[in-house]
Amino acid sequence: MPLDLPRLASWLRCPVCAADLEPVDRLTLGCANGHRHDVNKRGFVSLLGGGSKHLGDTAEMLDARDAVLEGGAYSPIAAAVAAAVTGTRILDAGAGTGYYLRAALAESPDATGLAMDLSPQAVARAVRSSERVDGLVADTWRPLPVRDAVADVVLDVFAPRNLPEFHRALRPEGLLVIVVPRADHLASLRAAGTMLDIPSDKAEDVIRAAEPLYALQARESVAYDLALTDELRTSLVGMGPSARHAAAGAALDLAVDTTRVSVDVLTFGRR
Ligand SMILES: [Zn+2]
Repeated sequence: MPLDLPRLASWLRCPVCAADLEPVDRLTLGCANGHRHDVNKRGFVSLLGGGSKHLGDTAEMLDARDAVLEGGAYSPIAAAVAAAVTGTRILDAGAGTGYYLRAALAESPDATGLAMDLSPQAVARAVRSSERVDGLVADTWRPLPVRDAVADVVLDVFAPRNLPEFHRALRPEGLLVIVVPRADHLASLRAAGTMLDIPSDKAEDVIRAAEPLYALQARESVAYDLALTDELRTSLVGMGPSARHAAAGAALDLAVDTTRVSVDVLTFGRR
């Protein structure tokens, strides 16, 4: 995939001084204040800065996530996300391998996307997956190295949220689309002891937190039962944060043959 450096730069600002980044040479972006940032040959840029204490997904977690997503287990969620999106510049915060971003782009032939994630491996996969996706390695918890009002839509699917920074990155009246798990999401797997992490976000909490900056426009619940194969069960466990702690093989012996997928898709308008 040829790297479109001007298109990548069009999203970005300097993480040091916040001036716009522009192409300087074939694999370098720079700002007017002389800061230079190398672009990876694989077509994305890392603007992490120093001192990020958060961990990106490992290659094993990404493999598990790919197996679940590309197998279609969450395709109704992707369809709901794609239906919520309107606009041609889509910033996916915590994009992972770009599955939901690609679903959104498929709805709109003129749209382009920026896949932002803390994991360089995830961003590399997202960029490789579509010629309309540019890639940025950055930490959602820090000031985002993206320009003001650069996005028509910010997507945040099962990912950390930086509501003030998403607000800054969105154009006036742009959309923020957030997917959060409901309390019963994958409950049978959790009950079987495989998932250490219990969904802590509730749609109500997200709506309340967003209220000063965003007006809720739509709330859609997506819920269905998912038949589990051994492979899918293992991948569902392996894709989450619990994979860091749990022995992945422990999931293989479970006698759980279905689980409930249950999420809220929240669409907000930027105030
Ligand atoms: Zn700079």
